[in-house]
Amino acid sequence: MTDRKAQLAANLARVEERIAAACDAAGRDRKDVTLVVVTKTYPASDVRFLSELGVQQVAENRDQDAAPKAAECADLPLTWHFVGQLQTNKVRSVVGYADVVHSVDRLRLVGALSTAAVARGREVGCLVQVALDAESGTQGSRGGVAPDVVGGLADAIAAAPGLRLDGLMTVAPLDGPYRGQPRAAFDRLAEISSGLRAAHPAATMVSAGMSADLEQAVAAGATHVRVGTAVLGVRPGLR
Ligand SMILES: *Cc1c(COP(=O)(O)O)cnc(C)c1O
Repeated sequence: MTDRKAQLAANLARVEERIAAACDAAGRDRKDVTLVVVTKTYPASDVRFLSELGVQQVAENRDQDAAPKAAECADLPLTWHFVGQLQTNKVRSVVGYADVVHSVDRLRLVGALSTAAVARGREVGCLVQVALDAESGTQGSRGGVAPDVVGGLADAIAAAPGLRLDGLMTVAPLDGPYRGQPRAAFDRLAEISSGLRAAHPAATMVSAGMSADLEQAVAAGATHVRVGTAVLGVRPGLR
């Protein structure tokens, strides 16, 4: 094994232990939590190592980086998640490789994703991104919509050709009442998710938790944790 691959293997093992311990503590089955490795800013060679190490789910947040990386890794058995703020002019490209988009936060984006998915003849999974710090009826500063807007957006996704409503995503807020309270934030997301499932029983995905707060997310019922730094290392520069 190369040094880099050995390092990734050791990091993955540590993250796997954390997820397993969090599942244990919460009385949850380890199989009910999926690890999505966020490979943004890291090269395609790392994605290849991760695939060789058994990773099946990877995520990216910028189309400019993700599109060439996904193309280089097209031979690998990977599910690609898109987790960044998405501009409508990037949608056609993203739909070329992404299986699931976690960051759906406005009707215009639903329309663009639907058109692109139909044009490609494929189905794209969509999560409504919830901004727990956004004012009623508005979008959050880092993407996402206020909880009271989730239902309408979810209905639009469910009705859109080429799209599949998979569930909800959030990032623990840096501001507002949930600042520094990831567990409370993820509990709130779980509550919104159970409301969503009353109307859309198949929308079971709850994408929450990153390197710093994956335990709190698992405790609150997350089905998918998105982990970058703890697997790949601290990213150079701000992203
Ligand atoms: C970068 C990113 C992650 C991973 O964050 P880490 O702290 O590096 O684990 C998760 N979710 C989203 C939306 C991200 O942009």
